[in-house]
Amino acid sequence: MITEVFTANQLKKEAPVFGQLSFDDHEQVVFCQDKDTGLKAIIGVHNTILGPALGGTRMYDYATEWDALNDVLRLSRGMTYKAAITGLNLGGGKAVIIGDPKKIKTPELMRRFGKFVHTLGGKYYTAEDVGMETTDMDVVREVTPYVTGISESKGGAGNPSPVTAYGVYMGMKAATKFTYGDEALKGKRILVQGIGHVGEELVRLTAEEGAHVIISDINEERLAEVSKKYGVDIYRGNDLYAETADIYAPCALGATVNDGTIDKLNVKIIAGAANNQLADENIHGPILQKKGIVYAPDFLINAGGIINVYAEIEGYGRDQIMAKTENIFDTTLDILNRAKAANITTNAAANAIAEDRIATRKKENQ
Ligand code: NAD
Repeated sequence: MITEVFTANQLKKEAPVFGQLSFDDHEQVVFCQDKDTGLKAIIGVHNTILGPALGGTRMYDYATEWDALNDVLRLSRGMTYKAAITGLNLGGGKAVIIGDPKKIKTPELMRRFGKFVHTLGGKYYTAEDVGMETTDMDVVREVTPYVTGISESKGGAGNPSPVTAYGVYMGMKAATKFTYGDEALKGKRILVQGIGHVGEELVRLTAEEGAHVIISDINEERLAEVSKKYGVDIYRGNDLYAETADIYAPCALGATVNDGTIDKLNVKIIAGAANNQLADENIHGPILQKKGIVYAPDFLINAGGIINVYAEIEGYGRDQIMAKTENIFDTTLDILNRAKAANITTNAAANAIAEDRIATRKKENQ
């Protein structure tokens, strides 16, 4: 039976759990079920060498349970790299709850989920992700202290999006310095795709610096509002990916750099907030490198959000959050220079630094 499902999902390894394509030496994977509330969740703890595993809970109506398992494995691994490259003493973890939040999310279900998080005794800290609200984290907080991203009124660090945008802005300026020899964005043509929580703030920061910002979104109302507020242009062409610009900032969906778009890209830099911008980093990373497009790794420059929630665990304030986020400038520049010197992709250079940091700590801990 398991073999059949496995084959249907075109998974190449043979063992059903440790053999999942996304399995990457994860320390612990916890399956949580509660019939009374309808809860079906999976918590993935990828690595805790640097500290407790932190990562949000995603609630999504997955087509199959295998999809949910693969998602949590992939996302939790990504969190390990994000925390490591950002210099935080955190490991990587993530949780998924299977189901449509509009249909099955209740305070009882969230409390039950929180109790499962609690059983891990602080090895995993949860937070908000797709399908979750800050108020859901407040409910989880009723049953466990191992949750971040709760309301400011309840002692949380509040909305992470402006901090994320500031980090992306820092990464963008570093990539601009690397490419043009000067970090100034004044006069640079920047395409911002997605003007939601992060995108809008990025538009503000770049427009205030005098960049020529062009915005794109599927939401016409937002386009009109943001364009008016910051005096920026709305993209009205047929194919954003073929537009000539200095910088493309993906701030909507992941995987927009893919087989269908990569040949068209006519920009010097890619620097945005979306997670997993490259559909396949092993394929699209080298193509970008060959085309001479400077890619600022997403998991590095969008780390402002995790810096913000980390503050809740460490108990530090706004100034330290912003100072740590500002560091993204130096780290990005360092990675771009290393990648150039070693003739490797920027993603590979970032991964190597994260892996080194974990390996060093592992040795120290022995
Ligand atoms: P959001 O939902 O507030 O905004 C997304 C925007 O993208 C919306 O305005 C939506 O209409 C638009 N959009 C959706 N599909 C589109 C398309 N095909 N073309 C153009 N626009 C489209 O999300 P957000 O919080 O601003 O996050 C943006 C991205 O950054 C997401 O990929 C998210 O995972 C990532 N991210 C966010 C944070 C954070 O702190 N919020 C942290 C790290 C990474």
